[in-house]
Amino acid sequence: MSSTSPSQTLPAETIDRITQAVHAGFEEQTQFLADFVRIPSLRFEEGPAQDFMADALRRRGYKVDDWTINLSDLAHLAGFGPIFGDFSRARSVVGSHHPKTVKGRSLILQGHLDVVPTGPAEMWSDPPFDPVIRDGWMHGRGSGDMKAGTVAALFALDALARAGFEPAATVHFQSVIEEESTGLGALSTLQRGYRADVAVLPEPSDFTINRAQIGVLWFNLRVRGRPVHVAVAGDGSNAIMASYDVLRALQGLEAEWNERAAQDPVYKDVPHPLNFNAGKIEGGDWASSVPAWCDVACRMGVLPGQDLDAAKAQIEACVAAVSRDHPFLSNNPPEVVWNGFQAEGYVLGPEVDPALSVMQQSYEQVFGEGEVLVENKMTALTDTRFYGLYYDIPAFCIGPKAQNIHGFDERVELASVRDLTVILALFIAQWCGLNPVED
Ligand SMILES: [Zn+2]
Repeated sequence: MSSTSPSQTLPAETIDRITQAVHAGFEEQTQFLADFVRIPSLRFEEGPAQDFMADALRRRGYKVDDWTINLSDLAHLAGFGPIFGDFSRARSVVGSHHPKTVKGRSLILQGHLDVVPTGPAEMWSDPPFDPVIRDGWMHGRGSGDMKAGTVAALFALDALARAGFEPAATVHFQSVIEEESTGLGALSTLQRGYRADVAVLPEPSDFTINRAQIGVLWFNLRVRGRPVHVAVAGDGSNAIMASYDVLRALQGLEAEWNERAAQDPVYKDVPHPLNFNAGKIEGGDWASSVPAWCDVACRMGVLPGQDLDAAKAQIEACVAAVSRDHPFLSNNPPEVVWNGFQAEGYVLGPEVDPALSVMQQSYEQVFGEGEVLVENKMTALTDTRFYGLYYDIPAFCIGPKAQNIHGFDERVELASVRDLTVILALFIAQWCGLNPVED
C-alpha cells in the first residue's frame, strides 16, 4: 500500500474506500449520537457527557487528557469571561493521536457538548433528551448544536482506521464545555498547551464556512431598592416596571450600534447584525407586594474590532442616563454585572486559506466537481475566536444541517451528518496525510 502525502488529491480508489468506510460505520455512528444526545449535558452538569466522550476516546486508543478546569489558571487570559456558579466539577477532555511518521499538518477537531436549556418540555413534540428519528432527522436538544458534528469528527477518524490508515500528523480531538456561555472550555485547552496548524469546529452550519462572527457581551441588570408605599406608587416605584425602562433604553443603544454597523467593512451588507436580548427575567416576591428587586440576564452583540471596554462603558453609561431622572431608579441606581461572555468578534484572515482550499477540495469530492463552499457572516459566535484571535491558530466551522437550535424540536438531518463525516475524513486525509496501518 502506498502512502499519501498531504495536499495531493487522493486517488479515486482511496476516496472510495474512505467513503465506503464512513457508510459502513454510519449505523453505529447514529446509535452513538442518540446515546450522546440522551445525556442532558446542561450547564454545570456536563460530567456524564464528558465521561461518555472520554470512554469513547480511550476505547479507540487515543492518549486521553481529562482534567478539571481551574478558573484561576484562566482569569488572566485574553477572552476570559467571569462565571458565577459551581464550576468545581468542570472538565475538559482531549484525545490525542500521534502518528508513527509525521508527514502532514497537525489538526485540532473541537466539539462542545454543553447544551442550552430546553424551555418547557411540553412545548416539544418529543421529550428533548429522548432522541427520535423521523423522516431522516434526529430530534433532541443538542442533536444539532453540536453533538452531531462532534460525533462526525470522531467517526471520520474511525473511518480512516477502518479503511486501513492513520492521520500522518498529530490530531487533537477536543471535547469542551461552556461554549454557550463563556467559551472557557476552549480557552482551557489552549491554556493547557494544545496547538495545531488549524482548528476545525463542526458546528451546525449547513456546510457553510463562517467567514466572520460578531462578539457578545453578557451582563446581569440588577435593579434593587425600597419602593415607596403601594398607596402612592406609580409605575416608577416598582423594580420590575423600572427595569423595562432600562431595557427600552438598551434597545435604543442597540439601534444606534446597528446604524454604525451599516458602515462596517465586514458587516455592512448584513441587516441588523447586533442583537440585544433580554433573555431571562426574575423579580419580586408576591402579587400584592410592590417588587423591590428585579434581575434581567442580558446579551448584546458587538462588531469585530469594536473595543470591548469601550462597548461596556457605553452600556453602563446608557443605564446610568436612563436612571438619572427616573422616579425609582434615580434613588436606586441599577447595577450592571458582567457575567459570562466577554467575547470579541472574529474575522477569518488569509492564514486560514490553505486549510479552506483543502476543505473545498474535500467538499467537491463529496458533492461534485465545481460545487463551491459558501461563506457566511454569523450574527452569533463560536469558540473559533480563541484560536484565531489569541493563539494564531486559524479556525473555522463547517457542520451539518440543523434546525431549531436553541429552540423547541431541535433536529439534525442525518444525511447531512453522513456527508459531513465523509468530508471530514477526506479533509483529515488531505490535510494531515495518511500512513498505512499494517495489521
Ligand atoms: Zn454550538
